[in-house]
Amino acid sequence: MLTEKLDAVVIGAGPVGLACALEIQRQGLTVTVVDKGALVNSIVGYPTNMEFFSTPELLEIGGHPFPMASYKPHREDALDYYQRVAAAEKLDLRLYERVTGLRGQAGDFVVETTKGEIAARAVVVATGFFDVPNTLGIPGEELPHVNHYYKEPYAHAGRTVVVVGAKNSSAKAALALARAGARVTLVVRGGEVSESVKYWIRPDLLNRIKEGRITAYFNTTITAITPGTVEVVTPAGPRSLPADYVYALTGYRPDYTLLTDMLALPLDENDAARPPLHDPATHETARPGVYAAGTVCGGLATSRWFIENGRHHAQLIAGALAKHPA
Ligand SMILES: Cc1cc2nc3c(=O)[nH]c(=O)nc-3n(C[C@H](O)[C@H](O)[C@H](O)COP(=O)(O)OP(=O)(O)OC[C@H]3O[C@@H](n4cnc5c(N)ncnc54)[C@H](O)[C@@H]3O)c2cc1C
Repeated sequence: MLTEKLDAVVIGAGPVGLACALEIQRQGLTVTVVDKGALVNSIVGYPTNMEFFSTPELLEIGGHPFPMASYKPHREDALDYYQRVAAAEKLDLRLYERVTGLRGQAGDFVVETTKGEIAARAVVVATGFFDVPNTLGIPGEELPHVNHYYKEPYAHAGRTVVVVGAKNSSAKAALALARAGARVTLVVRGGEVSESVKYWIRPDLLNRIKEGRITAYFNTTITAITPGTVEVVTPAGPRSLPADYVYALTGYRPDYTLLTDMLALPLDENDAARPPLHDPATHETARPGVYAAGTVCGGLATSRWFIENGRHHAQLIAGALAKHPA
Protein backbone atom coordinates (compact mmCIF):
# COMPACT_ATOMS: atom_id res chain seq x y z
CA MET A 1 0.00 0.00 0.00
CA LEU A 2 1.30 3.46 -0.91
CA THR A 3 1.75 5.88 2.02
CA GLU A 4 0.69 9.52 2.12
CA LYS A 5 3.36 11.58 0.34
CA LEU A 6 6.26 12.68 2.58
CA ASP A 7 8.72 15.47 1.87
CA ALA A 8 11.64 13.03 2.14
CA VAL A 9 12.65 9.42 2.68
CA VAL A 10 16.11 8.78 4.11
CA ILE A 11 17.53 5.36 3.18
CA GLY A 12 19.88 4.21 5.96
CA ALA A 13 19.61 4.76 9.72
CA GLY A 14 23.36 5.19 10.23
CA PRO A 15 24.76 8.25 12.01
CA VAL A 16 24.62 10.32 8.81
CA GLY A 17 21.13 9.16 7.81
CA LEU A 18 19.87 10.08 11.28
CA ALA A 19 21.61 13.48 11.06
CA CYS A 20 19.90 14.10 7.71
CA ALA A 21 16.48 13.11 9.02
CA LEU A 22 16.63 15.36 12.07
CA GLU A 23 17.88 18.35 10.07
CA ILE A 24 15.14 17.82 7.46
CA GLN A 25 12.56 17.59 10.25
CA ARG A 26 13.90 20.83 11.78
CA GLN A 27 13.07 22.53 8.47
CA GLY A 28 9.42 21.68 9.13
CA LEU A 29 9.42 18.92 6.51
CA THR A 30 8.03 15.38 6.90
CA VAL A 31 10.53 12.51 6.75
CA THR A 32 10.90 8.82 7.50
CA VAL A 33 14.09 6.77 7.83
CA VAL A 34 14.15 3.27 6.33
CA ASP A 35 16.82 0.73 7.27
CA LYS A 36 17.19 -2.89 6.27
CA GLY A 37 18.50 -3.67 9.75
CA ALA A 38 18.67 -2.18 13.22
CA LEU A 39 19.14 1.47 14.17
CA VAL A 40 22.79 2.32 13.33
CA ASN A 41 23.08 -1.18 11.88
CA SER A 42 26.74 -0.81 10.83
CA ILE A 43 27.82 0.09 14.36
CA VAL A 44 25.79 -2.85 15.69
CA GLY A 45 28.00 -5.00 13.42
CA TYR A 46 31.31 -3.56 14.66
CA PRO A 47 33.50 -5.59 17.04
CA THR A 48 32.26 -5.79 20.62
CA ASN A 49 33.67 -2.97 22.73
CA MET A 50 35.39 -1.41 19.68
CA GLU A 51 37.02 1.93 20.49
CA PHE A 52 36.31 4.79 18.06
CA PHE A 53 39.32 6.76 16.87
CA SER A 54 37.23 9.95 17.05
CA THR A 55 36.61 11.82 20.28
CA PRO A 56 32.91 12.03 21.23
CA GLU A 57 32.21 15.62 20.20
CA LEU A 58 33.23 14.75 16.63
CA LEU A 59 30.57 12.03 16.46
CA GLU A 60 27.74 14.28 17.66
CA ILE A 61 24.73 14.92 15.41
CA GLY A 62 22.09 17.62 15.58
CA GLY A 63 23.96 19.45 18.36
CA HIS A 64 23.08 16.73 20.90
CA PRO A 65 25.95 16.50 23.42
CA PHE A 66 27.75 13.13 23.67
CA PRO A 67 29.03 13.34 27.26
CA MET A 68 31.77 10.86 28.13
CA ALA A 69 34.10 10.51 31.08
CA SER A 70 36.74 8.80 28.93
CA TYR A 71 38.63 10.20 25.95
CA LYS A 72 37.34 7.82 23.23
CA PRO A 73 33.85 6.29 22.98
CA HIS A 74 33.33 2.57 22.53
CA ARG A 75 30.80 0.91 20.22
CA GLU A 76 28.29 0.55 23.07
CA ASP A 77 28.53 4.28 23.95
CA ALA A 78 27.79 5.21 20.33
CA LEU A 79 24.87 2.75 20.10
CA ASP A 80 23.38 4.30 23.21
CA TYR A 81 24.02 7.87 22.01
CA TYR A 82 22.45 7.50 18.55
CA GLN A 83 19.44 5.67 19.98
CA ARG A 84 18.90 8.51 22.47
CA VAL A 85 19.17 11.14 19.72
CA ALA A 86 16.67 9.30 17.50
CA ALA A 87 14.25 9.07 20.44
CA ALA A 88 14.74 12.71 21.53
CA GLU A 89 14.08 13.91 17.98
CA LYS A 90 11.07 11.58 17.68
CA LEU A 91 12.34 10.37 14.32
CA ASP A 92 9.99 8.19 12.34
CA LEU A 93 11.91 4.93 11.82
CA ARG A 94 11.06 1.96 9.62
CA LEU A 95 13.62 -0.66 10.69
CA TYR A 96 14.22 -4.12 9.21
CA GLU A 97 12.72 -2.88 5.94
CA ARG A 98 15.03 -3.04 2.91
CA VAL A 99 14.79 -0.57 0.04
CA THR A 100 14.65 -2.46 -3.24
CA GLY A 101 13.82 0.16 -5.86
CA LEU A 102 12.88 3.73 -6.70
CA ARG A 103 10.31 4.86 -9.27
CA GLY A 104 9.27 8.29 -10.41
CA GLN A 105 10.95 11.65 -10.41
CA ALA A 106 11.69 14.67 -8.21
CA GLY A 107 8.54 15.69 -6.39
CA ASP A 108 6.86 12.38 -7.09
CA PHE A 109 8.96 9.38 -6.04
CA VAL A 110 7.84 5.94 -4.93
CA VAL A 111 10.38 4.15 -2.74
CA GLU A 112 9.94 0.40 -3.03
CA THR A 113 10.72 -1.66 0.06
CA THR A 114 10.33 -5.21 1.28
CA LYS A 115 7.27 -4.08 3.26
CA GLY A 116 5.51 -1.80 0.80
CA GLU A 117 5.85 1.52 -1.01
CA ILE A 118 6.53 5.02 0.34
CA ALA A 119 5.59 8.16 -1.60
CA ALA A 120 8.03 11.07 -1.23
CA ARG A 121 9.07 14.29 -2.91
CA ALA A 122 12.80 13.66 -2.32
CA VAL A 123 15.09 10.79 -1.33
CA VAL A 124 18.34 10.81 0.64
CA VAL A 125 20.66 7.84 0.15
CA ALA A 126 22.84 7.27 3.24
CA THR A 127 23.59 3.59 2.84
CA GLY A 128 27.28 3.57 3.85
CA PHE A 129 29.72 0.88 2.77
CA PHE A 130 29.63 -1.87 5.40
CA ASP A 131 27.30 -4.38 3.70
CA VAL A 132 29.47 -5.73 0.88
CA PRO A 133 32.87 -7.18 1.84
CA ASN A 134 35.77 -7.10 -0.62
CA THR A 135 36.26 -10.75 -1.40
CA LEU A 136 39.52 -12.59 -2.07
CA GLY A 137 38.07 -14.37 -5.10
CA ILE A 138 39.61 -17.75 -4.23
CA PRO A 139 38.23 -21.27 -3.83
CA GLY A 140 37.00 -22.03 -0.31
CA GLU A 141 36.11 -18.45 0.61
CA GLU A 142 32.48 -19.50 1.00
CA LEU A 143 33.31 -22.16 3.66
CA PRO A 144 31.52 -21.67 7.01
CA HIS A 145 34.73 -21.05 9.00
CA VAL A 146 35.63 -18.04 6.80
CA ASN A 147 34.22 -14.69 7.94
CA HIS A 148 34.54 -11.12 6.65
CA TYR A 149 33.24 -9.58 9.88
CA TYR A 150 35.10 -9.87 13.19
CA LYS A 151 33.12 -9.59 16.41
CA GLU A 152 35.13 -10.84 19.41
CA PRO A 153 37.98 -13.25 20.19
CA TYR A 154 36.77 -15.46 23.01
CA ALA A 155 35.40 -18.39 20.96
CA HIS A 156 38.88 -18.86 19.48
CA ALA A 157 41.02 -19.39 22.61
CA GLY A 158 43.40 -22.32 22.02
CA ARG A 159 42.50 -22.42 18.31
CA THR A 160 44.45 -21.51 15.20
CA VAL A 161 43.19 -18.39 13.44
CA VAL A 162 44.42 -16.86 10.18
CA VAL A 163 43.76 -13.13 9.83
CA VAL A 164 44.03 -11.69 6.32
CA GLY A 165 44.90 -8.00 5.84
CA ALA A 166 47.12 -5.42 7.51
CA LYS A 167 44.94 -2.39 8.13
CA ASN A 168 43.20 -1.21 11.29
CA SER A 169 40.51 -3.91 11.45
CA SER A 170 42.90 -6.82 10.90
CA ALA A 171 45.54 -5.34 13.22
CA LYS A 172 43.01 -4.92 16.03
CA ALA A 173 41.52 -8.37 15.47
CA ALA A 174 44.93 -10.09 15.40
CA LEU A 175 45.96 -8.39 18.66
CA ALA A 176 42.70 -9.18 20.46
CA LEU A 177 42.73 -12.82 19.27
CA ALA A 178 46.35 -13.34 20.35
CA ARG A 179 45.61 -11.82 23.78
CA ALA A 180 42.58 -14.10 24.17
CA GLY A 181 44.78 -17.17 23.66
CA ALA A 182 44.34 -17.94 19.94
CA ARG A 183 47.35 -18.93 17.80
CA VAL A 184 47.27 -16.13 15.24
CA THR A 185 48.83 -16.01 11.78
CA LEU A 186 48.60 -12.75 9.87
CA VAL A 187 48.73 -12.97 6.07
CA VAL A 188 49.62 -9.72 4.33
CA ARG A 189 49.74 -9.13 0.57
CA GLY A 190 52.09 -6.13 0.90
CA GLY A 191 55.52 -5.89 2.44
CA GLU A 192 54.54 -4.40 5.82
CA VAL A 193 51.76 -3.50 8.23
CA SER A 194 49.99 -0.54 6.59
CA GLU A 195 51.28 2.92 7.55
CA SER A 196 47.62 3.93 7.87
CA VAL A 197 47.16 1.74 10.96
CA LYS A 198 46.55 4.08 13.92
CA TYR A 199 49.73 5.18 15.67
CA TRP A 200 48.75 3.57 18.96
CA ILE A 201 47.99 0.17 17.35
CA ARG A 202 50.83 -0.28 14.82
CA PRO A 203 53.76 -0.54 17.29
CA ASP A 204 51.75 -2.95 19.46
CA LEU A 205 51.24 -5.24 16.46
CA LEU A 206 54.86 -4.93 15.24
CA ASN A 207 56.14 -5.81 18.72
CA ARG A 208 53.84 -8.83 19.03
CA ILE A 209 55.14 -10.05 15.64
CA LYS A 210 58.73 -9.43 16.75
CA GLU A 211 58.30 -11.40 19.97
CA GLY A 212 56.67 -14.28 18.03
CA ARG A 213 53.26 -14.07 19.66
CA ILE A 214 51.75 -13.40 16.22
CA THR A 215 53.23 -15.08 13.14
CA ALA A 216 53.16 -12.83 10.08
CA TYR A 217 53.67 -13.62 6.39
CA PHE A 218 54.31 -10.56 4.23
CA ASN A 219 54.36 -10.37 0.40
CA THR A 220 52.11 -13.40 0.56
CA THR A 221 49.06 -14.25 -1.53
CA ILE A 222 46.31 -16.70 -0.67
CA THR A 223 45.46 -19.24 -3.36
CA ALA A 224 42.78 -21.33 -1.61
CA ILE A 225 41.08 -22.07 1.70
CA THR A 226 40.25 -25.62 2.75
CA PRO A 227 38.36 -26.79 5.90
CA GLY A 228 41.66 -26.95 7.87
CA THR A 229 44.19 -24.83 5.99
CA VAL A 230 44.92 -21.61 4.16
CA GLU A 231 47.05 -22.23 1.08
CA VAL A 232 49.49 -19.40 0.43
CA VAL A 233 52.41 -18.47 -1.77
CA THR A 234 55.15 -16.78 0.27
CA PRO A 235 58.41 -15.30 -1.09
CA ALA A 236 60.00 -18.64 0.01
CA GLY A 237 57.43 -20.71 -1.94
CA PRO A 238 54.00 -22.28 -1.35
CA ARG A 239 52.91 -23.16 2.18
CA SER A 240 49.88 -24.70 3.83
CA LEU A 241 48.96 -22.77 6.99
CA PRO A 242 46.79 -24.52 9.58
CA ALA A 243 43.52 -22.65 10.20
CA ASP A 244 40.54 -23.57 12.36
CA TYR A 245 39.09 -20.18 11.51
CA VAL A 246 39.78 -17.46 8.94
CA TYR A 247 39.04 -13.72 9.19
CA ALA A 248 39.39 -12.14 5.75
CA LEU A 249 39.31 -8.48 6.78
CA THR A 250 40.07 -6.92 3.43
CA GLY A 251 37.64 -4.01 3.55
CA TYR A 252 34.15 -3.30 2.30
CA ARG A 253 32.50 -1.42 -0.55
CA PRO A 254 29.17 0.32 -1.17
CA ASP A 255 26.34 -1.78 -2.55
CA TYR A 256 26.57 -0.87 -6.25
CA THR A 257 23.62 -3.09 -7.12
CA LEU A 258 21.51 -0.85 -4.92
CA LEU A 259 23.05 2.41 -6.16
CA THR A 260 22.99 1.77 -9.88
CA ASP A 261 20.44 -0.99 -10.57
CA MET A 262 17.79 -0.26 -7.92
CA LEU A 263 18.16 3.52 -7.44
CA ALA A 264 19.46 4.34 -10.94
CA LEU A 265 22.11 6.76 -9.69
CA PRO A 266 24.72 7.77 -12.30
CA LEU A 267 28.30 7.32 -11.04
CA ASP A 268 31.20 9.76 -11.42
CA GLU A 269 33.26 7.77 -13.92
CA ASN A 270 36.03 10.42 -13.86
CA ASP A 271 36.74 9.46 -10.26
CA ALA A 272 38.50 6.10 -9.88
CA ALA A 273 36.49 5.49 -6.68
CA ARG A 274 33.21 5.67 -8.70
CA PRO A 275 31.08 7.61 -6.20
CA PRO A 276 27.51 8.58 -7.09
CA LEU A 277 27.80 11.73 -9.21
CA HIS A 278 26.65 14.59 -6.98
CA ASP A 279 26.85 18.34 -6.51
CA PRO A 280 29.15 18.98 -3.51
CA ALA A 281 27.19 22.13 -2.60
CA THR A 282 23.83 20.39 -2.12
CA HIS A 283 24.70 16.66 -2.38
CA GLU A 284 21.96 16.27 -4.99
CA THR A 285 22.92 13.41 -7.30
CA ALA A 286 22.64 13.38 -11.08
CA ARG A 287 19.17 11.89 -10.56
CA PRO A 288 17.27 15.08 -9.60
CA GLY A 289 15.56 14.94 -6.22
CA VAL A 290 17.85 12.16 -4.94
CA TYR A 291 20.61 13.20 -2.52
CA ALA A 292 23.68 11.23 -1.33
CA ALA A 293 25.01 11.56 2.22
CA GLY A 294 27.81 10.12 4.33
CA THR A 295 30.29 7.43 3.41
CA VAL A 296 28.46 6.40 0.26
CA CYS A 297 29.56 9.74 -1.30
CA GLY A 298 33.14 8.40 -1.50
CA GLY A 299 32.30 5.29 -3.54
CA LEU A 300 35.15 2.80 -3.24
CA ALA A 301 37.22 5.37 -1.30
CA THR A 302 35.54 4.31 1.94
CA SER A 303 37.79 6.43 4.17
CA ARG A 304 37.04 9.68 2.30
CA TRP A 305 33.89 10.35 4.33
CA PHE A 306 33.27 9.06 7.83
CA ILE A 307 31.05 10.18 10.71
CA GLU A 308 33.22 13.18 11.67
CA ASN A 309 32.98 14.86 8.27
CA GLY A 310 29.98 13.05 6.72
CA ARG A 311 27.56 14.28 9.39
CA HIS A 312 27.87 17.81 7.93
CA HIS A 313 26.17 16.69 4.71
CA ALA A 314 22.92 16.80 6.68
CA GLN A 315 22.69 20.60 6.87
CA LEU A 316 23.52 20.98 3.17
CA ILE A 317 20.82 18.53 2.15
CA ALA A 318 18.18 19.87 4.55
CA GLY A 319 18.93 23.42 3.37
CA ALA A 320 18.55 22.39 -0.26
CA LEU A 321 15.28 20.59 0.46
CA ALA A 322 13.91 23.56 2.37
CA LYS A 323 14.58 25.80 -0.65
CA HIS A 324 13.30 23.31 -3.22
CA PRO A 325 11.18 20.73 -1.41
CA ALA A 326 10.26 19.17 -4.70
C1 LIG B 1 35.62 -0.56 12.91
C2 LIG B 1 35.28 0.83 12.46
C3 LIG B 1 35.61 1.93 13.25
C4 LIG B 1 35.26 3.24 12.85
N1 LIG B 1 35.59 4.30 13.64
C5 LIG B 1 35.24 5.56 13.26
C6 LIG B 1 35.56 6.71 14.06
O1 LIG B 1 36.20 6.61 15.11
N2 LIG B 1 35.16 7.93 13.62
C7 LIG B 1 34.47 8.10 12.44
O2 LIG B 1 34.12 9.24 12.12
N3 LIG B 1 34.18 7.05 11.66
C8 LIG B 1 34.54 5.78 12.04
N4 LIG B 1 34.27 4.72 11.24
C9 LIG B 1 33.58 4.94 9.97
C10 LIG B 1 32.09 5.13 10.25
O3 LIG B 1 31.58 4.16 11.08
C11 LIG B 1 31.32 5.16 8.97
O4 LIG B 1 31.91 6.11 8.15
C12 LIG B 1 29.87 5.54 9.29
O5 LIG B 1 29.17 4.45 9.80
C13 LIG B 1 29.22 6.11 8.09
O6 LIG B 1 27.91 6.48 8.44
P1 LIG B 1 26.78 6.42 7.36
O7 LIG B 1 25.56 6.87 8.08
O8 LIG B 1 27.23 7.12 6.14
O9 LIG B 1 26.68 4.86 6.96
P2 LIG B 1 26.38 3.59 7.87
O10 LIG B 1 26.62 3.85 9.30
O11 LIG B 1 27.10 2.45 7.25
O12 LIG B 1 24.81 3.39 7.70
C14 LIG B 1 24.26 2.92 6.50
C15 LIG B 1 22.93 2.27 6.82
O13 LIG B 1 22.26 2.01 5.59
C16 LIG B 1 21.54 0.79 5.74
N5 LIG B 1 21.23 0.26 4.41
C17 LIG B 1 22.11 -0.19 3.48
N6 LIG B 1 21.44 -0.64 2.39
C18 LIG B 1 20.10 -0.48 2.64
C19 LIG B 1 18.91 -0.76 1.92
N7 LIG B 1 18.92 -1.32 0.70
N8 LIG B 1 17.72 -0.46 2.50
C20 LIG B 1 17.66 0.11 3.73
N9 LIG B 1 18.77 0.38 4.47
C21 LIG B 1 19.98 0.09 3.94
C22 LIG B 1 22.48 -0.08 6.57
O14 LIG B 1 21.79 -1.13 7.22
C23 LIG B 1 23.06 0.95 7.55
O15 LIG B 1 22.35 1.00 8.78
C24 LIG B 1 34.60 3.42 11.63
C25 LIG B 1 34.28 2.32 10.81
C26 LIG B 1 34.63 1.03 11.21
C27 LIG B 1 34.29 -0.13 10.31
